[in-house]
Amino acid sequence: MIIWISRVTAMTPKFLDKSKFILSMDCPTKLYYHVRPDEYQNLKTENTFLQALAKAGYQVGELAKCYYQDQSPHDLMGIPIEEALAKSSELLAKENVVIFEAAIAHNNLLLRADILIKRNNRLKVIEVKSSCWDKSKDSFFKKRDPGIDSKWVDYIYDIAFQKTVIEKAYPSFDISSCLALLDKNAKCPTQGLNQKFRISRDENGSIKISGREQVTSEDLKERLVLEVNVDDAIQYVRERTRYRDDLIFEEYAQLLASHLNRNEKMLPKLGKICASCEFRVPQNVLDPGKKCGFRECWTHAAGFAGADFNRPSVLDLWSYLKKDQLIKDGIYFIDQVEEKDILPKKSEVKKELGLSRSERQLLQVKIAKDHSGADYIDKEGLSSEIATWVYPLHFIDFETAAPAIPLDKGAHPYEGFAFQFSHHSFKEDGTIWHADQFLNTEIGVNPNLSFIRALCKSLSEDEGTIFRYHNHENTYLNYIHRWLLRSGDEIEDKQELINFVQSIAKPSSGVGGWEPGKRCMVDLCKLVELYSFDSSIDGKTSIKKVLPSILKKSEYLQNKYSQKIYGKNAEIKSLNYDEPRAWVVKDGGDIIDPYSLLPKLFENINISAEEIELFFDDDELREGGTASIAYMCMQFSEMSGIEREHLRNALLRYCELDTLAMVMIVEYWFDILS
Ligand code: SF4
Repeated sequence: MIIWISRVTAMTPKFLDKSKFILSMDCPTKLYYHVRPDEYQNLKTENTFLQALAKAGYQVGELAKCYYQDQSPHDLMGIPIEEALAKSSELLAKENVVIFEAAIAHNNLLLRADILIKRNNRLKVIEVKSSCWDKSKDSFFKKRDPGIDSKWVDYIYDIAFQKTVIEKAYPSFDISSCLALLDKNAKCPTQGLNQKFRISRDENGSIKISGREQVTSEDLKERLVLEVNVDDAIQYVRERTRYRDDLIFEEYAQLLASHLNRNEKMLPKLGKICASCEFRVPQNVLDPGKKCGFRECWTHAAGFAGADFNRPSVLDLWSYLKKDQLIKDGIYFIDQVEEKDILPKKSEVKKELGLSRSERQLLQVKIAKDHSGADYIDKEGLSSEIATWVYPLHFIDFETAAPAIPLDKGAHPYEGFAFQFSHHSFKEDGTIWHADQFLNTEIGVNPNLSFIRALCKSLSEDEGTIFRYHNHENTYLNYIHRWLLRSGDEIEDKQELINFVQSIAKPSSGVGGWEPGKRCMVDLCKLVELYSFDSSIDGKTSIKKVLPSILKKSEYLQNKYSQKIYGKNAEIKSLNYDEPRAWVVKDGGDIIDPYSLLPKLFENINISAEEIELFFDDDELREGGTASIAYMCMQFSEMSGIEREHLRNALLRYCELDTLAMVMIVEYWFDILS
């Protein structure tokens, strides 16, 4: 059976459906821009195929429906909305019925319910989400204050909207509501279950999902998806919460629908949310003829004009948590921020050396007030760190995946594994080489064992210092550690591999610990944060921001990497580039971002790696988001051998540049300190 997923949002702008409603709960002004894609540029891509792979919602949705397969469900997926409305109404006239994708409307409000169950005059509406639920720990309510936990609030709005519309359309029914979520503690009952749900596109770009009929009773023996009643949480958002203009939930939904129908914009209410607004489009990427929603909001609500949009904004104050308060007080620019707004604390990581979070923020304020655009480098702090390093230095980067429906029998939902690494080495005499790499994208095979064996071999030839960038590598080594502990004794080198992980990683909090070894990985990102502040990127520390910035600043790097010194037989040995190449390439006078010199991961899809990473709500998943989707693409979609080979080659080059970028950061520091 193949299911076609229709695009409800494209149907008519006059209905407020649940996705528009959720968008408006974020910020109601967005609704106006969102329904005018020809007029306002939107940075959030609507690539539903890649989103489907990233969020796994369709696969979990299909699995959830399998649990009702023996109740003769009626599936209205893919049926046009008018027809689905009529069919749902006809089916709901029956005594007992199970409907997938039922359509129900009241006034201008519309929903498609994932699963709707009718038993006499009782209706149960189930919304399927691909998040995990831990029965022993999770609650929809905040632990200390009253209110819904921010992690769940969008889901609660979603199902509250559905319950409200159904109650209005069918007032005589007794309605209960559930979220269907993945059970964090459940174990996958069979091998290969996740391979049964395949995702593809038709020639119009609509998503097709297939495989429900291949699911067996054995696959469903232990439920991976559980249903959690949300009536209490819905009651809270409908009865105990007030929205704009002191309206209750239902009144607010009607207000949004009437603005939509009258083509009117809800007035903007500025806040920290504007920092990551999809309608905040920098002038240099604004398409000709398109408007910037952010500009309209800030012109209207804060009186911004011309140059104000170039003045450093408090929205970009590094890692500052009280932006809403500053904006409420009319402080819109970083140079208006006072020391009292940022109470400095000494770094918790380093007592003697390095910048704390508030010290970094004060630096940013000072640079904005001086208009100096200067950078900060703590040479003394960096030198003392460097003095502890042991050569040769090793730089590693992992690519990982965490499928919602597990790869292996006995594994939990979202159990992570690593499928790729890159490794660069750096000798004391300055010799640099791409020392090793690993990539396993075999379909349906857990690569953990071959990955960790290859990594152990790669790093066991000397005692050199190992660098990672941020927490990702440490987190996944912890996952592999747990996986090894759980695995059987048929892995003859199991203890050796466990010892290796313990020698280079530190235990994640909440996991049975070990004493970190003397070769424990050094987090290069933390050193960037502690010892430097780059004002041209507002102090951001992501490697994809830091690399282009240091290439622009460093004459040393420019001179070295504008030469064709990188390749299989060149001065710096590469494992993937046959022809010698330069990494500093100019377009006019500007250095091109090296990441944009790489082959596109997804051919025929015009989407940046940064946009893809926005698909992920979770920071840990976001960190390796692009490679993770590429991996899922190879696992769950139909691809030709040529497409698969292209993706593998692109993945190898991406990961190689990540570890080379780490080398360049260190070279940049060495040059500054020399
Ligand atoms: S800029 Fe701010 S107020 Fe305007 S649409 Fe975006 S989030 Fe809403």
